[in-house]
Amino acid sequence: MSTVHPPLATAEALLADGTTVELRPLGPDDHRAVLDLHAAGMSEESRRMRFFGVSRNAPRQAADRLCGPPRTGLLALGAWAGEELIGEADCELLDEPPETAELALAVADRWHHRGVATLLLEHLVHAGRAAGIRFFEADTLGGNHAVHQVFADLGLPIERRYAHGEVRVRVPLDEGDERYRSAVDERGRRADVASLAALLRPASVAVVGASRREGSVGRTVLTKIRQGGFAGPLRAVNPHADEIGGVPAYPSVSALPAVPDLAVLAVPSGAVPAVAEECGAAGVRALVVLTSGLGAQEARRLMRACRRHSMRVVGPNSLGMAQTDPAVRLDAEFGGAFPRPGTAGVAVQSGGVGIALLSRLAWLGIGVSSFVSLGDKYDVSGNDLLQWWEADGRTDLALLHLESFGNPRAFARTARRVTRSIPVLTVDAGRSTAGRRGAASHTAAAATPTVTREALFRQAGITATRSIDELVEAAALLHAQPLPGPRGAVAVVSNAGGIGILAADACAEVGLELPELPAELGKLLPPGASVRNPVDTTAAVGPTELTFFLRALEREEAVDAILVCLVPTALGAAPAQDPVRALLEGPARRRVPIAAVLLDQQVPVRYRTCADGGVLPAYSDSVAAARALAHARDRARRLAEAPSVPADAPDCDRRTARSLIDGHLTAHPDGGWLDPLSTADLLEAYGLPLTSSVWARDEEAAVAAANGLRLLGHERKVALKAYWPGQVHKSVLGAVRTGLGTEAEVRSTYREFTERFGAELVGAVVQPMAEPGVELLAGVVQDRIFGPLVVVGAGGTAAGVPADRSARLAPLSERDLTTMVAELRSAPLLSGSVGAPAVDLAALRSVLARLSRLADDFPELVEADLNPVILRPDGAVCVDARVRLERRPSFDPYLRRLRRPAAASDSPGSTASPP
Ligand code: ADP
Ligand code: MG
Repeated sequence: MSTVHPPLATAEALLADGTTVELRPLGPDDHRAVLDLHAAGMSEESRRMRFFGVSRNAPRQAADRLCGPPRTGLLALGAWAGEELIGEADCELLDEPPETAELALAVADRWHHRGVATLLLEHLVHAGRAAGIRFFEADTLGGNHAVHQVFADLGLPIERRYAHGEVRVRVPLDEGDERYRSAVDERGRRADVASLAALLRPASVAVVGASRREGSVGRTVLTKIRQGGFAGPLRAVNPHADEIGGVPAYPSVSALPAVPDLAVLAVPSGAVPAVAEECGAAGVRALVVLTSGLGAQEARRLMRACRRHSMRVVGPNSLGMAQTDPAVRLDAEFGGAFPRPGTAGVAVQSGGVGIALLSRLAWLGIGVSSFVSLGDKYDVSGNDLLQWWEADGRTDLALLHLESFGNPRAFARTARRVTRSIPVLTVDAGRSTAGRRGAASHTAAAATPTVTREALFRQAGITATRSIDELVEAAALLHAQPLPGPRGAVAVVSNAGGIGILAADACAEVGLELPELPAELGKLLPPGASVRNPVDTTAAVGPTELTFFLRALEREEAVDAILVCLVPTALGAAPAQDPVRALLEGPARRRVPIAAVLLDQQVPVRYRTCADGGVLPAYSDSVAAARALAHARDRARRLAEAPSVPADAPDCDRRTARSLIDGHLTAHPDGGWLDPLSTADLLEAYGLPLTSSVWARDEEAAVAAANGLRLLGHERKVALKAYWPGQVHKSVLGAVRTGLGTEAEVRSTYREFTERFGAELVGAVVQPMAEPGVELLAGVVQDRIFGPLVVVGAGGTAAGVPADRSARLAPLSERDLTTMVAELRSAPLLSGSVGAPAVDLAALRSVLARLSRLADDFPELVEADLNPVILRPDGAVCVDARVRLERRPSFDPYLRRLRRPAAASDSPGSTASPP
């Protein structure tokens, strides 16, 4: 096994039916439990399947093997429901074949068919991969259909060999990545939705801490649930009352006549853990914790109770939740008015934003399917809600407000899938957070939290808005109108020329095209009208003319969307002449989306009902309307694209890179910047085109190196770069000299370095001079929570200038490569459209793809800065690269496990899983 400690960490995760189990490595303390599992927990038949009918001693042998003193080469993982060990999976490295481990599985009979074995296997696959195991093998009986099903469903391309009624199964761990991940996703989705049912569709509810005092949180929620007409039994828990506001009250949770699915907690923070424990022990399935101000100790105890008793929890510090499905009708929140039933799912981290959003949606007339105020998000998160809405059959629009991300990579993966079926909109909160100050590389300086979050939203297909207003304005369009064509070609029509021009400007600013319109359309309009886009109908346009004109316009092939801007005029004062009336008498839904800008409207956006009963979104300002159309266009583009494939980076030598990285970190436990030679080796292992760089520790060596490169005297020249550990930018300090053509120049330059840098100087790097080309920066920086962010931008000595940059989160797709290069301001320099010859874009894509793969494979690679990569028509070469390593635990963001909120973490500062 490699030197990496196998990350067989403790975790909680969901079974297929939504039950929470704890997974933890087996140790000497678990001997009794393992014995019980194999003896009492399994029938004779199950044991025969597991041990091929071998002796009665088999359970004890299993317990001895798994729970003896720790052995290298053995990974053993148990699944616990409360205090009971319900399953076990282990693997033990074989002497032969290499990198192969013998796998064994056992699940207690009464826990069969709930996904225990699969969950254990997923975690064992993860640990095995990290420990350098490449294959699991297991002997199974041919008739053991259950275990064959487990292997078949796993998602890895297994092989089977049959002999004498036994089947030898071989599971390759490092293959079938995407298929395996999709299979894991699908299991995760089902389990998640199953676990959320008690929370989002409870059959019965209790409010714990319902006070008699009107206006208290508990009392308010109780009253709201009652007035909302909750479909199931509702009870209050209060030691001092028999009845509160018409609801029967009981002194404690255990005194309730029946166990509620959901308990809403409005007790003081000190009481939360004990109440949660009492709920769990009674069999409550979900909690909404309204209480705020929990200390770390209370948080920890709350989460322990929830995990042990398999309860999902919303909050703490939640405003509550609402489910409008007529079969449930649960209004368990104390923020606003019970939302009208509808199709928008809303989840917010801040209660205040929740109130604002709900009231705007209500005012606009968009109904809500379910609403959850996530509060401090100890457990239930935006990711859970996306999966719920994806499956609930009622939601066709998701609105999220997130201030923090627990596992953004898992979230992005979910969102990428969900956004293909419903629009997901978010307010991007926290933009103003200052960037990383004093970053030592240009790549790190470019990776501000804003850039990182933007990359996340964009790659996940989420519509990110900058304010609540913008969110609601975009939602209004997406909810009521069809999507535009992906080109986003808008016809702007106005009855006042100046207004049309403003609207055209607003469209251009968000990248919407204004296509040319056929001149014949002008015949439909009054004399003096102009059909150059923006169309000026003149104030004299009559209702019939406008109606016919719009009808003709929507049929135009060149038009993907229509923006109609109307100003009330004296002519329109006669109702029969009113152009707005004419607009509303037409259909609300046409071939293309239509948005109205009504300049006398007082509110930013509202729906106007058309004669056919449909609605048109009407904005008071064309900037808002254009922005909404641009969001719709972005979504249309995304849906028009075929799902992209992972960026291609063939022939990356993972083993060499692994041993280089491990070697460096063993020698330098605190990590740091790699020296030039190790940098070159690492980059070469991943096929990154670093120019030949020869190390020279003194003047003579430098001369020899330059001669060795066979450059001097052959019309090509060399670059000499002074090196000392910890150096940051070299040329500003005079540590880079380019274009040296003779031995004498190399000598004098080296001497200069010696004089200038004195004892600090360790040596120098000699490189051939690269042919001039376009200098770009390419780099990657590892975010602890978001993972690797790949950056490309204008480079070389221009890199310090702020900043022509584009960034995406790894792993990159082929489309990411295309869009990130295309969106650079310097893109025309690369494509040859400004006179210079086109550069080898395939070579640039390859650099980015390989950087993405390298950082994705090795979380220890915290920073890599290739600057410049010199691009030419015939290829790309990097002449300056810096790489920084740091010890980081391997973390698989896609491993199925429930979150461990930072506030409730057992070991503060532990990095085993991100907060
Ligand atoms: P630093 O970025 O630390 O200042 P570099 O090694 O990037 O130092 O060198 C600075 C600039 O010198 C580069 O941006 C590039 O323009 C030029 N340069 C450096 N090495 C070479 C080389 N081998 N061939 C061509 N130009 C080079
Ligand atoms: Mg440089």
